[in-house]
Amino acid sequence: MKTAHALRQAGEGLLALLYPPHCASCSAGTASGTHLCAGCAAEAKENVAPFCQRCSQPFEGALDAGFTCANCADREFHFDCAVTRYLSRGVVREFIHRFKYDRHFYLRHTLAGWLAEGLADERLRAPACEALVPVPLHAARFRERDFNQAEVLAELLARRTGPPVLRALRRIRYTSTQTRLDRAQRMENLRDAFRVRHSAAVHSRHLLLIDDVFTTGSTVEECARVLCGAGAASVRVLTVARG
Ligand SMILES: [Zn+2]
Ligand SMILES: [Zn+2]
Repeated sequence: MKTAHALRQAGEGLLALLYPPHCASCSAGTASGTHLCAGCAAEAKENVAPFCQRCSQPFEGALDAGFTCANCADREFHFDCAVTRYLSRGVVREFIHRFKYDRHFYLRHTLAGWLAEGLADERLRAPACEALVPVPLHAARFRERDFNQAEVLAELLARRTGPPVLRALRRIRYTSTQTRLDRAQRMENLRDAFRVRHSAAVHSRHLLLIDDVFTTGSTVEECARVLCGAGAASVRVLTVARG
């Protein structure tokens, strides 16, 4: 798999030489090393406060700082908060899809940049996160896609910020697509899907789970549950966007 990545990177380097940089969304010229022009970057929809302190669900109107949304009020989560800087709409949603399903691998840098912006959120400041844990793909899905989007993004984030990537989880059950399932069905679908790989590495540590999109939170909740079961001191979540 390492070879495939090296080849891809070499290919990108070659393409950059052959073609001048342009915006992956509107084709306008861009500065070298970026795939998004200033105009399209400005269209990325930010998740602005006020939002739920737990899941970052935005809310119209003024609210107290400690607000928790109706979706979180009746749930017991194992993660302290799920932070996201953007909403999965427009160019953000388009880039995530192209990266994940159309193999536009070069978009990983733009996505990692959006992900990194989330680190400024005060909920992630203290206690400091000690390791980045990517949400794993099942081996069969990995073979199909040839990369794990969460792991690729976690690696790029680690290079920028310091906390190392810890591949602490394994996905042991192949789960069918969750998009048509309701919340209860999603949790049932995910039961026993993940297992902790190295309990000792997880124990007493403050972990930051990394994924591309937060939708209902069922996947990260199931990951957080098994990490807490293995003795993690805390689990917080950071995603590129919110569905
Ligand atoms: Zn553009
Ligand atoms: Zn919430």
